[in-house]
Amino acid sequence: GKIKSAEFVVSNSEVAKCPKNPIPEYAFIGRSNVGKSSLINMLTDRKSLAKTSGRPGKTQLINHFIINDSWYLVDLPGYGYARVSKTSKKKFQKFITNYFEQRQQLVSAFVLVDIRHKPQPIDLEFIQYLGESGIPFGIIFTKADKLKPKAIERYVEDYCQQLLKTWEELPPYFITSSSKKIGQEDVLNFIKATNEE
Ligand code: GDP
Repeated sequence: GKIKSAEFVVSNSEVAKCPKNPIPEYAFIGRSNVGKSSLINMLTDRKSLAKTSGRPGKTQLINHFIINDSWYLVDLPGYGYARVSKTSKKKFQKFITNYFEQRQQLVSAFVLVDIRHKPQPIDLEFIQYLGESGIPFGIIFTKADKLKPKAIERYVEDYCQQLLKTWEELPPYFITSSSKKIGQEDVLNFIKATNEE
């Protein structure tokens, strides 16, 4: 799962305008500040790939990157801003559901979860939505360097228990740290395995 090339392709405000190429696609989403940009940079061995699209004003867009000329990495907007109106929340939800419901080439979403915070309703709701809609997804726990190994184990166990209240099966999950470069191999291997199927 080595990264030979990683390039920014395009940012879009509408799903309909996203690239038409039938290339396997993987989408990263999570609450703002979850560590999404850092994770994308860590996964791709690039210092500021995600920042290209992360500059102000670009954060509400669907950002496509092409990796190894063979799969799209999609950086979706962060959700859960505290200070947004109900109308803009509704609009945002529509925008996101449009993406997940219309994007044919999507192989898997990755929901990022900050390991420092107890399970957040907004993340659980989003996971619920993906599950109910039959959209394949994995969970990426971020900032694992913030906890000791035992505490990571406990956290993940609790999180899984939470999910098993609703679901019979657990999604694939990954423990990562961008600052300590943990989890790159696991995530890339999963991507490799699923896009060769
Ligand atoms: P985004 O808003 O989801 O794109 O998050 P960023 O990648 O910009 O990170 C948000 C904050 O979390 C920044 O202050 C990062 O330095 C910090 N951060 C991101 N990844 C990690 C990590 O793996 N470990 C630690 N300790 N901090 C992280």
